[in-house]
Amino acid sequence: MSRLLRGGRDDCFAAAPSLPPGVDWTPVDDALAGLRAASAPLTDCEELPIAACDGRRLALDAVAARANPPAANAAVDGYAFAFAEDMAAGDDVTLTLAPGRAAAGHPAPAPVGPGRAIRILTGAEIPVGADTVVLQEESRIDGEAVTFRPPRRRGANVRPAGEDAKAGAVLLPAGRRLSPQDLARLAVAGVGRALVHRPLRVAVLSTGDELIQPGADPASPGIFDANRPMLLALVARLGHEAVDLGVAPDDAGRVRAALEEASNRADVIITTGGASAGDEDHVSRLLTSDGSLATWRIAVKPGRPLVLGRWQGRPVFGLPGNPVAAFVCALVFARPALEVMAGGRWPERRGVAMPAAFSLSKRSGRREFLRARLTPDGRVERFHSEGSGLVGGLSWSEGLVELPDEALDIAEGDTVRFIPYAALGIA
Ligand code: AMP
Ligand code: MG
Repeated sequence: MSRLLRGGRDDCFAAAPSLPPGVDWTPVDDALAGLRAASAPLTDCEELPIAACDGRRLALDAVAARANPPAANAAVDGYAFAFAEDMAAGDDVTLTLAPGRAAAGHPAPAPVGPGRAIRILTGAEIPVGADTVVLQEESRIDGEAVTFRPPRRRGANVRPAGEDAKAGAVLLPAGRRLSPQDLARLAVAGVGRALVHRPLRVAVLSTGDELIQPGADPASPGIFDANRPMLLALVARLGHEAVDLGVAPDDAGRVRAALEEASNRADVIITTGGASAGDEDHVSRLLTSDGSLATWRIAVKPGRPLVLGRWQGRPVFGLPGNPVAAFVCALVFARPALEVMAGGRWPERRGVAMPAAFSLSKRSGRREFLRARLTPDGRVERFHSEGSGLVGGLSWSEGLVELPDEALDIAEGDTVRFIPYAALGIA
C-alpha cells in the first residue's frame, strides 16, 4: 500500500521520466510495467457473508473449511454394494436386498453386509460396507433379490469424498474478484464469510470550457460531455464505486477545487481533457505545481500524452479529452492499475487470434488499437475510419484489435489479435 500512498523511487505517478522534445516515446509495455510496479491496494477490508461478496476482491486466500463432498455419495439412483474382484468378469450377479434405503440427507439404517445391496438415491452417502453403485435402470428386482450386470470397476457411479475440494485446500487466491460461481465454490467447502476489500472509490472529472451537460438544449453552443457518462459507467462495470465530480471549466481555481473534492471523496481520480501542455491544460499544470506529475508520452494510437500524477497523495490518471482516446487509455492503462488498487490482481489483456476481414499497413513505433467486432462468419472487421473523434466507432465496436509496435502489412485472412470488451471487464 505504501508506495502508492507515499510515492517512491519506482512510483510512475510521481517520478516523471524527463521528456525533452524529440525523445523516444515510451512503448506501451514499458508504461504498463511502470504502472504495475507503482500500483498497490488502496482499500481497507471487511468481513462479509459470502452472499454479499459478488464482485468483491478477496483480501486473503479462501481456504476450504471441509472437503466437498464431505463423504462419498451416489451419483445416480440405483443399488449400492461392495465390489468384488470376481465381478470384473462382467457376469450377472444377484445380491440380497438389505432393508431400508439411503437417500440424500437420510443415511442407510445399517452397514451393508457382504452379498447384499441397498437401494440408494442420488446424493445419498455411500453406506459403510458399500463402495460401488449400479444404475437402477440396469438392475432387476425379484422379491428380496436384485440382479444386475456389475459396472466394470470399483467406485463406479460414486462421487468420492473431497473430489471437488480437499479440506484445507486454497479454493481461491487473495485478490480474486469473486464471481457468482466463486460464491458456490466457497459455500460448498463450508466458507460462509470472507474477508474482502471495500470497493475502490474512483472519482471521474471532465474538464473543458466547451463542455455542456448531456440533456442540455441541442441548440446550445458547446460540446456535450461524453466522457463522464462513459467513464462513470466503465468504472462501475469494472467493479468500483464511481464518484461523479461533474465538469470543471478550464480555470485553474475550479480545477483545483474539483481535485480537492475528489481527493476527499475518492481513493483515485480520473480526469479527462486538459492533460497536454497547452495554456488551458490546467490538470497537468496544477499537478506539476501543487501535486506531482509524470507525463508519459506513450507510443499508442489512439492516445495523447497520458498524465499520471498525484493530488493530496491520491493517484490521478489524466486521460486525453478525446472520447475515443479516453476510452482506450482507460481500458489499457487505468483498468489494470485500478484492479490492483482495488485489491485485485493485475489483469493481462487476453486476446484471441482471429482472421482479419480487412487489410492494413502500419508503420513501426506505435502500438495501435482498432475499434473492431466479429463478423457472422467468424472474422474480425474494423471500424471504417480511425478518426479518433468518432464516438460512433466506439459504440459500433465489440472489442479492440491490438496491433504490435512493429511495422506490419495485414492482408485479409491474416491473423490479428482481437480483445473482446468482455475480456477487458466490460461484460
Ligand atoms: P483536450 O484533451 O482537453 O485538449 O481535448 C481534446 C478534444 O476532446 C477536444 O476536441 C475536446 O473538445 C474533446 N473533449 C474533451 N473532453 C471531452 C468530453 N468530456 N466529452 C467529449 N469531448 C471532449
Ligand atoms: Mg480541453
